Amino acid sequence: MSARVLVIDDIIQNVKLLEAKLQNEYFDVITALSGKDALKILETDLPDIILLDVMMPEMDGFEVCRRIKSNPRTTHIPVIMVTALDQTSKRVEGLEAGADDFLSKPIKDLPLFARVRSLVRLKMLMDELRMREVTVENLKTIEVVKFPLKFNLAAQSTNILLIESSSSSAQRLSSYMDDFAKVDISDGNITDFNLCRYDLIMISLSLPDIDGLRLCSQIKNCEETRHTPLIVLVDEDENDKMVQAMEIGVMDYLVRPVDKNELIARVKSQIRQKMYAESLRENMKRNMEMAITDSVTGLYNRYFLNNYLKNLLCPTNEDRDSVSIIMMDIDFFKKVNDTYGHMAGDEVLVEFAKRIIRNIRTIDLAVRYGGEEFIIIIPKSDATFVKLVAERIRARIEKIPFKISNHSVPIAITVSIGVSLSADKYMDGTSLMGSADEALYQAKETGRNKVCGL
Ligand code: GH3
Ligand code: MG
Ligand code: MG
Repeated sequence: MSARVLVIDDIIQNVKLLEAKLQNEYFDVITALSGKDALKILETDLPDIILLDVMMPEMDGFEVCRRIKSNPRTTHIPVIMVTALDQTSKRVEGLEAGADDFLSKPIKDLPLFARVRSLVRLKMLMDELRMREVTVENLKTIEVVKFPLKFNLAAQSTNILLIESSSSSAQRLSSYMDDFAKVDISDGNITDFNLCRYDLIMISLSLPDIDGLRLCSQIKNCEETRHTPLIVLVDEDENDKMVQAMEIGVMDYLVRPVDKNELIARVKSQIRQKMYAESLRENMKRNMEMAITDSVTGLYNRYFLNNYLKNLLCPTNEDRDSVSIIMMDIDFFKKVNDTYGHMAGDEVLVEFAKRIIRNIRTIDLAVRYGGEEFIIIIPKSDATFVKLVAERIRARIEKIPFKISNHSVPIAITVSIGVSLSADKYMDGTSLMGSADEALYQAKETGRNKVCGL
């Protein structure tokens, strides 16, 4: 994994040392000797991760971090704050400034590489999510998800599972988190716990009868819990286990004896990252749905249709010469609105969409093209088949009048339909749609409630 690391420290020896260490592990390193320099670099260069010294003249690390995190261009870049060993209380302050992780000076190799790798991995994931979001952003105006700088965890809604066999240690660790979370304790047997409900799981790697690493890997490999952040508890001499844990995908670790401030800072940082990732995912899902489907009927929308047709009819697609289109327009729909109201009109549209769906195959694509115009794309079909489907839909609409709320008598609805078939390799989406449209026009002109074309 070759990631780009920005090292910010006012002491040149520190910078050189870190640069050498990271380059040795094949990281690509850029350096800055002050906060000001660093912010300047960030205007043009976007690293994958930032190592930031806290104590610096002029602008200290907290301020630099705040600026990085409040700039939309750089807010997603993970920041590791480097503090002196006796400054664990500063970690909570770092967290408030938006830091993602913390390292103590003197920096030891293993923790350094483990944390950098883990955060780089997380960032790659986030980048993927953000990239999809940007793609969707081009389709519709969306609300961009901001990394939460300040956030309040509420004990009622934050659930943590602590898996620790020593009850005295479990009680103590749990009391550190009382203020912001509800902590359940397990001695290692997790069969009675529903793991999905936890925002974070903390696992001791010194459980007597259970292999803690195996437990971590089980949680990571389970579809429902793979996004749940894991923090492991290790003893000072358990570097190997810690490295293995991080390789499995454990997000962070705490070394015993556990410092209260360090624990709070790490736990909160993990939960914050999880919240950010979740809102990115949620937002993306919502935007995707908004961008490709119609909110009234749930069918695909015109935008999606255009892209779909382009792919379906691309010259390299072997099935392209047997694609057909059914284009439908409800007859005298304006009158439905005028007589029964717009809401009733909407109900008709919803029911109309349902009837279409019930009469097509899974590989056929139903689209709401505009107001009361609908389209079905039927791949792998011939003229006989497509006319059959169209006729069946026409009949199903005519035969059963549409029930609407607040009206005891169902409304009679009919539809006019035009069909077309891509006859050869050179027919593009526009001409295919064009001939379906002509056929539909013909159906309207010659009396409505009929299928024309082909
Ligand atoms: P024709 O048989 O020639 O197709 O006549 P028509 O009345 O169906 O066609 P026209 O294009 O004149 O009117 C379509 C109407 O559809 C006008 C518009 O108010 C209504 N409409 C468009 N979108 C919606 C919608 O989302 N909900 C409702 N209720 N009505 C809609
Ligand atoms: Mg119309
Ligand atoms: Mg109409």
